[in-house]
Amino acid sequence: MTVSRTYEVRTYGCQMNVHDSERISGLLETAGYQKAAQGTTADVVVFNTCAVRENADNRLYGNLGHLRPVKMANPGMQIAVGGCLAQKDRGTIVERAPWVDVVFGTHNLGALPVLLERARIEQEAQVELLEALETFPSTLPTRRESAYRAWVSISVGCNNTCTFCIVPSLRGKEKDRRPGDILAEIEALVADGVIEITLLGQNVNSYGVEFGDRIAFGKLLRACGEVEGLERVRFTSPHPRDFTDDVIVAMAETPNVMPSLHMPLQSGSDRVLAAMKRSYRAGKYLGIIDRVRAAIPDAAITTDIIVGFPGETEDDFTATLDVTRAARFAGAFTFQYSVRAGTPAASMPDQVAAEVVAERYERLVAVVEEGAWAGNRALLGTTVEVLVAEGEGRKDERTHRLSGRARDNRLVHLAGCDARPGDVVTAEVTHAAPHHLVADRVLDIRRTRGGDAGQRSDGPTPVGLGMPGRAG
Ligand code: SF4
Repeated sequence: MTVSRTYEVRTYGCQMNVHDSERISGLLETAGYQKAAQGTTADVVVFNTCAVRENADNRLYGNLGHLRPVKMANPGMQIAVGGCLAQKDRGTIVERAPWVDVVFGTHNLGALPVLLERARIEQEAQVELLEALETFPSTLPTRRESAYRAWVSISVGCNNTCTFCIVPSLRGKEKDRRPGDILAEIEALVADGVIEITLLGQNVNSYGVEFGDRIAFGKLLRACGEVEGLERVRFTSPHPRDFTDDVIVAMAETPNVMPSLHMPLQSGSDRVLAAMKRSYRAGKYLGIIDRVRAAIPDAAITTDIIVGFPGETEDDFTATLDVTRAARFAGAFTFQYSVRAGTPAASMPDQVAAEVVAERYERLVAVVEEGAWAGNRALLGTTVEVLVAEGEGRKDERTHRLSGRARDNRLVHLAGCDARPGDVVTAEVTHAAPHHLVADRVLDIRRTRGGDAGQRSDGPTPVGLGMPGRAG
C-alpha cells in the first residue's frame, strides 16, 4: 500500500499569494499528497514567497538555512520555492541553497507536482519559470483554508508602474478572467457552503481592460448581487486612478456588497505621488472618499501608506498626515519605505535616513489610531452583524469570546455564545478600542450554511476542482 507523502505550504505576502497557496495545496492533494499534521515534519515543504520588501530575501534564505539540517536528517524530504521571490531570483536560489529541489514561478504553479517528481527521479534540482501566465490559477484544483469564505481571483498582473513596486515585473501585465468564468466559480463556491467572497486583483478597478469593457468591475459587483445565498462580497485592491463612479453606485445599490473599501493612498503629497507614478493626486483621492461616503454613509475606509519615500520632505509628510485626518480611516497598513532592488525608486536620489523614517512612522501611526478609535467610539450602542470567523473566531478559553468581522470589516470581539464559525451574530457594541470593537450584548445568532459547511469540514475544505478559464 503506497503511503501518501505529506506536504506543508508556507505562505508569505499578499492575498494573491494566499489564493495561490490554496491552489498549490489543491494541486498536491490531487497528486496524492496529504497535508502534514501540525508539528510534524512534512515530506515536501513549499515556500510561496513575497518579494515586496528587502527583508523578504533574508527571511527566505534564513528559513532555508534552518531546514537544511532537517533535510539532512530526512533524505527523502523535498523543498520547493515558488512565488514572487522565486520569479525574481530564479536559479540564484539553488546556487545560494543547493539543498532546494524545485524552483517554480508565479506563472506556472501547475508545474509543481511534475517538477517534484522529476527532481526525485533524476536526483537533480529543477528550476522552471515562465515569462507569461501558463494557466489561470483559478483553473487549478484548490484546497481552501475556510469552509465559508473564499478568495476569487478576477485578474492577475498589473499594468501600472508604481516606482516602489516590483509586482508588474514578477506577475506581468494584467490578465482578466471572463465574467462568466468568475460567476461560475462563485456559484460553485456558494453551492459548497461559502457565504462570503473577496474578489481579488492587483487593481480590480481596471478589470475588463483586457476585453475592452471599462465598466466591467461595476457590472461584476451587480452580478454578484444576483447570486442566491451569497451574503457578503468584498474586493481588493482598488486603485484611485481607475476608481469610477459606476463602482460606487454598484456598491450602494447591491445589498450583498459590503460597506467597506480598502483603497491604498500611499502618500498625501502630490509631489511624492508623482514620484511614485501613482497617477492620481490627493484631491482626487479625497473626492472619491467623499462620494463613497455620500452614497454609503456607513462605509468603513482603510488604506495603505508608505512613509519615507525617496525625496519625502517634512512638508510632504505633513500633507500625508493632513489627508489621513481628512479621510477618517477606520484603519491603515503603514509601511516604512525600504529599498527594493529592481524598482525605479531604489536608485532615486534623496533616500530618507532610517531614523527620520522611523520618527515619521510613529507620528503617522498615532494619527491613524486616533482617527480609527474616534470612528469606533461613534459605533458605541449601535448594532453590528458579525460573521464569526475561525482563527479570529477562536474561543478564548479564559473569556469564551468569539471574534469575527462586521459588515464594514471592522474586527469585533463578541461575548461567548454558541455561535459557530460561519454563523452570523447580531450584537450591540459595548466597548470601542483603537483596532477593534467589543459587542457583549448578543441579540441574535443566525445559523448559516457557512456555519454548517464549517461543521461539515474538519478545517480546510476538500479539494475543489478548478474552474474553466483561459490562460493569458
Ligand atoms: S498598482 Fe502599483 S503598487 Fe499595486 S501592484 Fe500595480 S504597480 Fe504595484
